[in-house]
Amino acid sequence: MDQRNIGAIEAGGTKFVLALARADGTVLAETRIATRSPAECFPDLAAFFEQAAATHGAISAFGVGSFGPIDIDPASPAYGTFTTTPKPGWSGARYHDVLDRFGAPIVVDTDVAGAALGEWEKGAGQGCRTLAYTTVGTGVGSGVLQDGKSLMGFSHFETGHIPIARDPARDPYAGFCPFHGDCLEGLAAGPAIKGRWGQSLSELGSPADKIELIADYVAQLAVNLILLHMPDRMIFGGGVMKAPGLIPALRKATQARLAGYIKAPQLDPGLESYITAPALGDEAGITGAIALGRRALA
Ligand code: ZN
Repeated sequence: MDQRNIGAIEAGGTKFVLALARADGTVLAETRIATRSPAECFPDLAAFFEQAAATHGAISAFGVGSFGPIDIDPASPAYGTFTTTPKPGWSGARYHDVLDRFGAPIVVDTDVAGAALGEWEKGAGQGCRTLAYTTVGTGVGSGVLQDGKSLMGFSHFETGHIPIARDPARDPYAGFCPFHGDCLEGLAAGPAIKGRWGQSLSELGSPADKIELIADYVAQLAVNLILLHMPDRMIFGGGVMKAPGLIPALRKATQARLAGYIKAPQLDPGLESYITAPALGDEAGITGAIALGRRALA
């Protein structure tokens, strides 16, 4: 059994999950810290991994699944650096600044690509050749894997900012995205739901009309993911997707918008196995970060 240690980081908009794990995935130590500025978070990261390494042995590789926008091109000199994020203090911050002291290789990908990888290896994405994982939470993003490799162009995908058809009579909320207003994230992410209705869908009791509205917005992304990538399965996670009834409403809205155009055995009647919640639940992200670290070992 591979006894080497992996340092894993799942960095989200509200919290970081940090873990030290064996290469086989056995977690030896884990903690959560609130997402603040890098000046506040990075010392906590260093302290956790220093303590974990002192207790369990040296760290041989790091895997990072992070919110973005972030440079995830291993060939880029700025690999692992946050680019144009509006999050205070994060533009220009680089994971290597805090992790280089451990002298171990580092693999950085998006939080959604990490979660996709976790689900592909151990969760609802097992056996899929092409897998799309989307989170709808503080923000919206998608990772697409092909044969276990995450796809990107000159940068990672930005599915949260796709344009959305919105009927102002049905939904007068203009969206909160500082760039686009009513893009998908501007309309359907957690802050949009609170901005529009004052509470989360779960707090509101998941009323059918509100669930259907958000499902219809997320379905517009789901249809685009199908048309662009033809994934074998699509997983939808994140805090917003936990609202009771949202996944079933998303299946229905996606099927309605496809309008019978795509016929394939993957698209089962009712899309019940095609569109699913993450099987690993909240563990998808850190499982994926450990898997990214395993790639850094290789
Ligand atoms: Zn936007």
